[in-house]
Amino acid sequence: MKFYVSVDMEGIAGILFKEQIYRNETFYEESRRLLTDEVNAVVEALVQAGATEIVVKDAHASGFNLLYGSLHPAATLAAGALPLANRFAGLDETFAGALLIGYHAMAGTRGAILEHTFSYADILELALNGEPIGEIGIDALLFGRFGVPVLFVSGDDKTCAEAQRQLGTVFTYETKQATGRHSGLLKAPRRVLAEIGESVKEAVGRRSECKPYAIPGPYEMRIEYTSTNLADARELESDGVRRAGGRALALRDDDLLRLLARTFK
Ligand SMILES: [Zn+2]
Repeated sequence: MKFYVSVDMEGIAGILFKEQIYRNETFYEESRRLLTDEVNAVVEALVQAGATEIVVKDAHASGFNLLYGSLHPAATLAAGALPLANRFAGLDETFAGALLIGYHAMAGTRGAILEHTFSYADILELALNGEPIGEIGIDALLFGRFGVPVLFVSGDDKTCAEAQRQLGTVFTYETKQATGRHSGLLKAPRRVLAEIGESVKEAVGRRSECKPYAIPGPYEMRIEYTSTNLADARELESDGVRRAGGRALALRDDDLLRLLARTFK
């Protein structure tokens, strides 16, 4: 029984500020330890639930955040850069489920810790076929292409609510309660390490309730940028692009992967 674990950093227990999540920032090294410990607790729970193979993808920023030497020995690391739309190395239809650890709510979510959608600087909102979508939804679509359901999502309370709204049946664990972009009530990381495994095991035990996520095509992605010049720059680049507002473009495509590749070009 194989599982794919994608790990972001914003939703990890104890994390609240940008100074904790970027290399060379003051608190980054401690955050790497928090991240690695939480991932290891998830991997250990998967082992106890009967996993035979566990792939861990370090999905935050550069993709080099985990303390590799401290990674649980049952995990295989999916390392190296791939284009965003195709970033889960080794993913195929043999996986029983995916887990999204340390995720965050989509850009514009009120009262959500470090909310954004892939880019803090450039993107105000993405909407796929008229519905706003964030990193949880897009990653669930990438797993869904291979028939792999997302079983479990962890992060702040807004992250968990977004996962349930977007994916239907999915198991969640709150590492913190957000009250603002940089404020909230944070569970002690040691408490999270003690609790998260039970939630993971429940998700694995009830995985048949979770369905692979899919949205039928054809597709239109509306991208609301933070600034008009970002829309200006791409308006004429190819067919299937429509100016959808002062700061917005709409991209059309029949193929989901190609659409995502164009979105994150
Ligand atoms: Zn991140």
